Amino acid sequence: MFEKILIANRGEIALRVLRACREMGIATVAVHSDADRDLKHVRLADESVCIGPAPSNESYLNIPALIAAAEVTDAGALHPGYGFLSENADFAERVESSGFAFIGPRAETIRLMGDKVSAKQSMLSAGVPCVPGSGGALSEEPEANLQLAREIGYPVIVKAAAGGGGRGMRVVHTEGALLNAISLTRNEARQGFGDDTLYMEKFLERPRHVEFQILADTHGNAVCLGERDCSMQRRHQKVIEEAPAPEITDTQRRDMSERLIRACQEIGYRGAGTFEFLYEDGQFFFIEMNTRLQVEHTVTEEVTGIDLVREQIRIAAGEPLGITQDDVTIHGHAIECRINAEDPATFVPSPGTIQQYHAPGGPGIRMDTHIYNGYAVPPHYDSMVGKLIAHGTTRDIAIARMRGALGEIIVDGIRTNISLHSDLMNDANFQRGATDIHYLEKKLKTH
Ligand code: ADP
Repeated sequence: MFEKILIANRGEIALRVLRACREMGIATVAVHSDADRDLKHVRLADESVCIGPAPSNESYLNIPALIAAAEVTDAGALHPGYGFLSENADFAERVESSGFAFIGPRAETIRLMGDKVSAKQSMLSAGVPCVPGSGGALSEEPEANLQLAREIGYPVIVKAAAGGGGRGMRVVHTEGALLNAISLTRNEARQGFGDDTLYMEKFLERPRHVEFQILADTHGNAVCLGERDCSMQRRHQKVIEEAPAPEITDTQRRDMSERLIRACQEIGYRGAGTFEFLYEDGQFFFIEMNTRLQVEHTVTEEVTGIDLVREQIRIAAGEPLGITQDDVTIHGHAIECRINAEDPATFVPSPGTIQQYHAPGGPGIRMDTHIYNGYAVPPHYDSMVGKLIAHGTTRDIAIARMRGALGEIIVDGIRTNISLHSDLMNDANFQRGATDIHYLEKKLKTH
């Protein structure tokens, strides 16, 4: 097992990784920008290294500075968290070629899954259902693309192979708009991602977002820890996540688990990963794989009792999975609300100093956050300042606990979206469950 791990991230996830290391008796190195000296995990870490100025591209995205920090502290492994460099294949490669373990998949797997065309092709050949579409990259031939869209049937969505974060995609409703949409998306992709490869899919009108968590070790074992529903989104950003997904049956879960375990074995997957699907009319359609820990891993932890960060570290150290698929059982229901430093109505970020923070508590309540009284939320990074998770034996109990916790929590000094979450916990359609990915935006428009 590693003696020391460098945490190449910030905020709540850096603290989450630190806590796992501490439990396992592993020393920690926190790296931080100039603006992040007061982060909670920096204070708790055994060592800390300043890796650059506030802007991310000079600090958290600065590969040489991160490698140097690992070298001077003699860390054995590096945990990338989520966001920043966590899905950067070149970074994973540099980490490993410098002699450190990368707590994540092999660089070639990150590369394969980072290109959505190759990701889809490898999933199709592994028997994972995908959204019907081009099956490969779009050609430069207008006539061929018009013909393809006719076969798929409108509406279609044109997407960049290298796209991410909801960028580089365009929905097309009529044939007259197709060629222009392709050339606009191609230009955006070239400028935004340095790769103008495009592909085309059927545009699903009312899907839900359902994703499956997997773990795979370096000994050929893989397990599926069930699914999460992350349909409550605004601008492709998840706002609320839950596990299990409403209305998904045991049979569906078992079938998908078997397919995904096989897919992991076929691509030689290593570590924690998530297969994301759109779910419509009882069918799953693969859209992409995230080759890292996700923000919403917590709800899976609550319903399975499995510590995903601990497993990631164990896998990276070469240990076999401590569980088999038969050990995985789903207990009750868990819901996560992402607490953002933003105006609840306009969504404008609201950095500033936290005058008072009071954590909620009680049975089934978990709060993953790095904030504390007097902490100043810097303006330079993502606005998420914490995650409130409620677990109960049923979905209704989880909702009731979440409602109570949202009423107890106090975050003064900055604006937060806590009131939006309270609204949603009282929303009859959310309470019924299984709302689609457009529900939140429609609801916000009519208020
Ligand atoms: P990114 O990597 O940018 O997140 P995804 O391929 O995961 O890109 O798609 C992001 C979001 O775009 C999805 O969650 C969904 O809301 C929407 N989307 C993508 N593909 C389709 C599709 N074929 N039909 C309907 N919506 C889609």
